[in-house]
Amino acid sequence: MSKAIVSSLYDSDVFRMACRQFDKAADAINLPDALRDRTKYPRRCLAVALPVKREDGSVTVFEGYRVQHNLSTGPSKGGIRFHESVTIGEVAALAMWMSWKCSLVGLPYGGAKGGVIVDPNKLSANELEHLARRYMQEMVNFVGPHTDVPAPDVGTNEKIMGWMMDTYSNHVGHVAPAVVTGKPISLGGSQGRREATGAGVAYLVKKYLADMKISIEKATVVIQGFGNVGGETAIALANYGAKIIAISDYTGGIHNARGIDVKKAVTYVQYQKVLRDFEGGEAITNEQLLELKCTVLVPAALERVITDKNAGRINCRLLAEAANGPTTNAADRILEKRGDIEIIPDVLCNSGGVIVSYFEWLQNLSNFYWSRDEVMTKLTAILDKAKDSVELQKAKFKFSRRLAALTLGIQRVADAKQSRGLFP
Ligand code: NAD
Repeated sequence: MSKAIVSSLYDSDVFRMACRQFDKAADAINLPDALRDRTKYPRRCLAVALPVKREDGSVTVFEGYRVQHNLSTGPSKGGIRFHESVTIGEVAALAMWMSWKCSLVGLPYGGAKGGVIVDPNKLSANELEHLARRYMQEMVNFVGPHTDVPAPDVGTNEKIMGWMMDTYSNHVGHVAPAVVTGKPISLGGSQGRREATGAGVAYLVKKYLADMKISIEKATVVIQGFGNVGGETAIALANYGAKIIAISDYTGGIHNARGIDVKKAVTYVQYQKVLRDFEGGEAITNEQLLELKCTVLVPAALERVITDKNAGRINCRLLAEAANGPTTNAADRILEKRGDIEIIPDVLCNSGGVIVSYFEWLQNLSNFYWSRDEVMTKLTAILDKAKDSVELQKAKFKFSRRLAALTLGIQRVADAKQSRGLFP
């Protein structure tokens, strides 16, 4: 009965996609029935109405969510998304993926995610601050340094995390930096957190290209999404010597076979907010961009962009899933059948973000701060270990790389639930 209630609450394409991935992995490791639904479905969620006074004096009520998928292995952890297409089902799917990701890379966290249905580009700075603070105000009894620790995701950033940390701290009556990660350095943010996800993606791309005997200096790279993750991935890959030939955001893409000046593009977006009219190449659509011939394709925007419609035409050697859930299950089957594209699955590929968020949380709890070098050395050590474990699992059971990563992540969560027993 609980199964029907839970699945109807979150029912959506993206939640069904996450559930099918889970089912396939659970079958592959023969997860006992008594553990399946407990491991699969989110533990709890909160939906909130967020009234915000607008610049013209009117009031708009926004809808927000927080889904905590798993709390068995530590506080839950996951970003907060401000985007107009947010649904509770999407937030639930993203929370599930956070559980497998944290578990895969060995962090003492469960998974969670939050979201507000809003286009942040349409809010003034004041309205955005009011919305962020109101969201945290509603979450005060639901999150906390030892319960659930949010972070930035699509449409949110350091500044917003700072406002949320301030709101929470005012409520509890003392400074509580460990309640969110991805904060400004001045509020206890970690060195290296801003670039962590992109730096991690680029590091793994470099490692996998080396395994494939492809020199990174000869690699061409296409990136969809030029926000925090896409921008930092571009910078890090360009620093390794790769040529970034196409980038995009929600306003469209830019293609330049001779290579895009990534630093110039990042500066342009800092001031203009969008890539539109950036004069670094020819304009292309996001659909065209995904099918460009390249060595590495990096989806770094939203879910479900590689589908059964375009999977047959994707023209890369390595698909590095910087975004969460960019490849639908149907597309995955097509890519697996083609067999000519290596995939770094999302739960591994973008895990650098939550790994450095974990470092930030540790630094906040101990009030002892690390250098950037220390952060980066520890980050790459964890990524190396996670990559090795995925490759071992893949070889041992002849799994796809995605199935190898998911089975490792899911097994550890299920083992923890089994060991804790069922309360009451
Ligand atoms: P962001 O808001 O900083 O950037 C998102 C980018 O995607 C923007 O350039 C935006 O214009 C673009 N975009 C939005 N809709 C698009 C569309 N329909 N077509 C093309 N581009 C579109 O967000 P982010 O933090 O960079 O997150 C990007 C992805 O990475 C998300 O899937 C997120 O869940 C994942 N991720 C983020 C982090 C993190 O630390 N921020 C960590 C792990 C995974």
